[in-house]
Amino acid sequence: MVDLILKSGREKSLIRHHPWIFSGSVAKITGSPTSGETINILSNKGRFLAKAAYSPYSQITARIWTWDENQEVGGSLFYERINTAIEIRKPFVLKNTFSAIRLLYGESDGIPGVILDQYDDVCVIQFLTTGAEFWRDVIIDIIKTKTNSRAIFERSDSDVRQLEGLSPRVGLLSGNLSEKELVINEYGVNYFIDIINGHKTGFYIDQRDNRRRIRNLSRDCKVLDCFSYTGGFAINALAGEASSVSLVDSSDQALIIANKNIILNNFESANINFIKQDVFQFLRGMRDRGESFDLVVLDPPKFAPTSSQADRASRGYKDINLLALKILKPGGLLVTFSCSGGISEDLFQKIVTGAALDAGITALLIERLHQGFDHPVALNFPESAYLKGFIIKKIE
Ligand code: SAH
Repeated sequence: MVDLILKSGREKSLIRHHPWIFSGSVAKITGSPTSGETINILSNKGRFLAKAAYSPYSQITARIWTWDENQEVGGSLFYERINTAIEIRKPFVLKNTFSAIRLLYGESDGIPGVILDQYDDVCVIQFLTTGAEFWRDVIIDIIKTKTNSRAIFERSDSDVRQLEGLSPRVGLLSGNLSEKELVINEYGVNYFIDIINGHKTGFYIDQRDNRRRIRNLSRDCKVLDCFSYTGGFAINALAGEASSVSLVDSSDQALIIANKNIILNNFESANINFIKQDVFQFLRGMRDRGESFDLVVLDPPKFAPTSSQADRASRGYKDINLLALKILKPGGLLVTFSCSGGISEDLFQKIVTGAALDAGITALLIERLHQGFDHPVALNFPESAYLKGFIIKKIE
């Protein structure tokens, strides 16, 4: 097997079981491994540290499969990891409460680069790294036997594949899918999921419990759902008897599905506005016209995938939070999120604090929200904690 030898002193993060090796830590690679091939990681003094997948183009040169020299990287390792991932989630699933779940969450489940979401009886998979791509057939076979799903569809069209030198792959891997859209249930609300064209694998499963949280807080409220996508928060506000709901998103396609979802849940007679606009512009317009709301949700896309974009992203988060706090009625609630890996929860709190200060308001942070249980945070991989949200009450 090919050896990757680290520069002196660069083994520290590996000893703490962080699963990534950055190109800057590499002293030497003996031989010429192919993309995704399993290599040994050695300290500068030649001590075995881990077995990893090699990625020739990425800044992350290797991702660890195992720290155990005696463990072979192959079918039985993947079987064990996939089996464990499925088993650890089971006790957290209350029967018949939802039918969309993330079964594999990359590094957290010991399979860097593999994401597996199950929508009812259909699985959608992403292979995002060279190592994942290398083992794809083995992994697909295991998923077939472990999930008993009607179909497995691949959505390996995320931008991150480019960083790995991989081209997009989308298509049916097994079974059959006669319909383009599936319907899932989430705590009594139904959603159409467009697994072929939707974002990520079709839906933001990570917000499941936070969407439900909105329900109890919306009664008789005038609700604004910014970055609404297919209406997740808006429909929960309607289920919670909001007096009106406005959905803002720049994507036509998302709003079309949001409308279908509203009809699917029999809320079409309610007071609903669909607004196809840039949220920044929309909020400024509302502020200038003196419009106000009782509850505002901000669930923007990742402004900062990594910490290098944190400065610019911070300004974006500050802008929307400042505007949202301004158009919130006194006594109203702001439910604000960041899914940026590059923005820590601490930093996000500072940004929202700055926004409140600049808006000239007094506010309380009432509740902290995070990604769901099926996106577990690996303690050795803090990067796996990415979604943070606050429920903020505007006092005056
Ligand atoms: N809250 C949603 C997920 C939001 S995803 C849910 O629970 O399902 C982020 C959404 O923001 C996407 O639908 C995307 O189309 C939209 N978006 C991205 N940038 C935008 C912008 N500047 N203005 C309006 N919408 C934007």
